[in-house]
Amino acid sequence: MSRGDEAGTSPGLVVVISGPGGVGKDTLIEQLLARDPRLRYSVSYTTRPRRDYEVDGEHYSFVDRAAFRRLLAEGELLEHATINGHLYGTSGRRLDEARADGHDVIVKIDVHGAEQMRRKRPEAVYIFIKPPSMDELLRRRIERATETPREIAARQRLAEVEMGFADRYDHVVVNDDAERAVAEIRRIVESQRSTGREPAGTR
Ligand code: 5GP
Repeated sequence: MSRGDEAGTSPGLVVVISGPGGVGKDTLIEQLLARDPRLRYSVSYTTRPRRDYEVDGEHYSFVDRAAFRRLLAEGELLEHATINGHLYGTSGRRLDEARADGHDVIVKIDVHGAEQMRRKRPEAVYIFIKPPSMDELLRRRIERATETPREIAARQRLAEVEMGFADRYDHVVVNDDAERAVAEIRRIVESQRSTGREPAGTR
């Protein structure tokens, strides 16, 4: 029998999603959440300034560096990383609260955060999202127009480094088409649910 057929029966899966900035992770995650009521999103803390379209507490919890350091000192963060000079971290408490309700939780983190997660939550499912090509990634990044040319160049360099971590993930999904990529991720999640893999984070 598949594990946790109803929310509340057992702690949920942790689904870690990484991939270079601009690859479309947010859109994929949005669609996954819209289609699968058992999925929840782990809202990270960040010191990055909020973008116009972002909602505090929904996309991120926006904090200053002092508050972030406090969270770290209090052991609230399961993992954290500095990306383009800004701090990002996952709240272990928020993650486990959602899982305790039987929800499967999507965690969007960079490759270094995923390295830390692998040590603490080896049972999680690790998915890397790749662009069809690096040129396509650059094109999407420019199109998104949320970054200055300098940031665009820095993020593209960072993307090259991140791509080098792809083979450390359980699954690599190419975001050539959002519909197709979402369907592929859903199949991965379904398959993890039905294999009854030991619930993440119980060790
Ligand atoms: P952005 O600033 O564009 O929202 O995110 C930049 C990068 O930060 C993303 O590629 C994402 O993977 C990463 N990120 C977001 N939240 C976290 C987090 O809590 N921990 C880590 N390690 N990385 C994160």
